[in-house]
Amino acid sequence: MSDGSAPRSHRDDTLPNTPQANDQAALGLSSRGCSSGALSATSSEGSPFNHAWLNRVKAELGVDLMGVLAVEPNSHPDFIQGVKTFLPKARAAIILMNELASETMNLVMHPAKYAGKLKTGALLAPHVDEVHSELDLANMQLAKLLKREGYRSIALPRRLPMRAADMKFPLSFCHIAEAAGMGTVGTHTLIITPEFGTRVRLACLLTEAPIPTTKRHDPVDDCTHCLDCVKVCPVGAISSPGPGLRYEVDAARCKFYRDYVDNCGLCQKACSFATRHSETVGPPLTARADSFGLQEYLNKAAD
Ligand code: SF4
Ligand code: SF4
Repeated sequence: MSDGSAPRSHRDDTLPNTPQANDQAALGLSSRGCSSGALSATSSEGSPFNHAWLNRVKAELGVDLMGVLAVEPNSHPDFIQGVKTFLPKARAAIILMNELASETMNLVMHPAKYAGKLKTGALLAPHVDEVHSELDLANMQLAKLLKREGYRSIALPRRLPMRAADMKFPLSFCHIAEAAGMGTVGTHTLIITPEFGTRVRLACLLTEAPIPTTKRHDPVDDCTHCLDCVKVCPVGAISSPGPGLRYEVDAARCKFYRDYVDNCGLCQKACSFATRHSETVGPPLTARADSFGLQEYLNKAAD
């Protein structure tokens, strides 16, 4: 199967089900503060990299969400080690996110339900690739922008090489995003954001710029723990987490299924419904503040 199935790169980017990945303190998760509020940079007084800077850069890059996890002396050792592998003097990891379209996500169905009908879920893979292309471009532009300001920066690729010693990925983009207050890693091990639920893709940049960690204001768990993702997985790759664990996912089983049998994306679709982030089932969409004014034009034309 194509490598564009919805959860793939998240899962590939995510440390699999290890005790450390389940540890709240992993990758600095103890600093997590989750809420539905906007992100703000912490300890940014006097820093040029404040909330306004983040918002301006986000708008200029055209990405949907942006968060930062600073590299601190007390950061989780795995995070420090992973960061230093790619940029030894990095002082911050920046996560960029773009939304996946719910219109496309909702075309995904359980293989048995197609029953000879058009396999509409096949639209997800190319859509994921397109969203990643946008993110990669924004990530490279951000690296250039920061380098022009005098800070070495590296836009990391979508898939990092695995460490041969333990067959783990050196950095988990989802966990960095969680520690940057952008959402919660759910039972399916994907990030769930307040804005788009789990319908997002991620890119990560490391920089020597001293950008402070972003945080949300009120602690909220974005995972409803409904276990719909567990129930929907056609190969039983997601288990109900045991005592003391946040998630138990057989990443190899999922990967095998997605690579050789089906694009899948079912757990991401189920989660979109469970967390009410499926626009298709919500109320009609309304024009956003940053729309180009079509509705206003139509209203005037009707007067
Ligand atoms: S539903 Fe199961 S096989 Fe499909 S992407 Fe999710 S974990 Fe993988
Ligand atoms: S489907 Fe339910 S349990 Fe699974 S990640 Fe989403 S909210 Fe959590």
